[in-house]
Amino acid sequence: MKKGKQIYEGKAKKVYRTDDQRFLIVSYKDDATAFNGLKKGTIEGKGVINNKMSNLLMQRLEKAGVPTHYVTELSDRETLVKKVSIVPLEVIVRNIAAGSFSKRYGVEEGIVFASPTVEFSYKNDDLGDPLLNQAHAVAMHLATTEEMETIKKYAFAVNEELKRFWAECGVTLVDFKLEFGRLADGTIVLADEISPDTCRLWDMKTGEKLDKDRFRRDLGGVEDAYTEVMGRLLQHI
Ligand code: C5P
Repeated sequence: MKKGKQIYEGKAKKVYRTDDQRFLIVSYKDDATAFNGLKKGTIEGKGVINNKMSNLLMQRLEKAGVPTHYVTELSDRETLVKKVSIVPLEVIVRNIAAGSFSKRYGVEEGIVFASPTVEFSYKNDDLGDPLLNQAHAVAMHLATTEEMETIKKYAFAVNEELKRFWAECGVTLVDFKLEFGRLADGTIVLADEISPDTCRLWDMKTGEKLDKDRFRRDLGGVEDAYTEVMGRLLQHI
């Protein structure tokens, strides 16, 4: 498939047209941002790791019955994906209190929830991706009630599959963010990426953070953490 014009450049990825309008090429960058773009930096080799990790996990999720945009890996940094129109929601699933949840509700980081939670935020950089509920999403025509139910069902299915998989790797899946899109026929599929940029991953034994929080919180050892989780994934996939 021929790579066409760049149509989008985001914080961590570029997206290109192809000569087939059903498909796009995603190219992963090493750029890292946090706090809605206020903190900027580079995580050497991150693009290669996130590309590969996301692709391996999406293939696993497909097998578990969650449709995704993944088609095929083209190179270290580039992947062919199905073209979708993104549902402008960040879908966040949490197993353990951390990050914005701990801050918002005054719950100590590390408290294990009675059951997994799901929340949505409105993808809008100017507004700082504000939280919103299902009724808001439907009212604002961001998604239909039926689509929201499908999205929640897939989000929890992703959690069960990934929680189990990461546990085999000695890693606790604390929380993660997903994005979904619609294919031309309206089918909802998992899109975007699943990587240490979008998941909180803690070492099961030591509690060490093996994800982007090392960058967000200036903990150091960012590249090593990404390399470590990737290595564990490759041993168990
Ligand atoms: O910051 P917060 O606690 O809400 O993040 C929850 C999860 O969603 C974390 O795993 C984080 O990496 C991810 N996230 C993301 N992109 C955002 C916001 C959160 O990948 N814009």
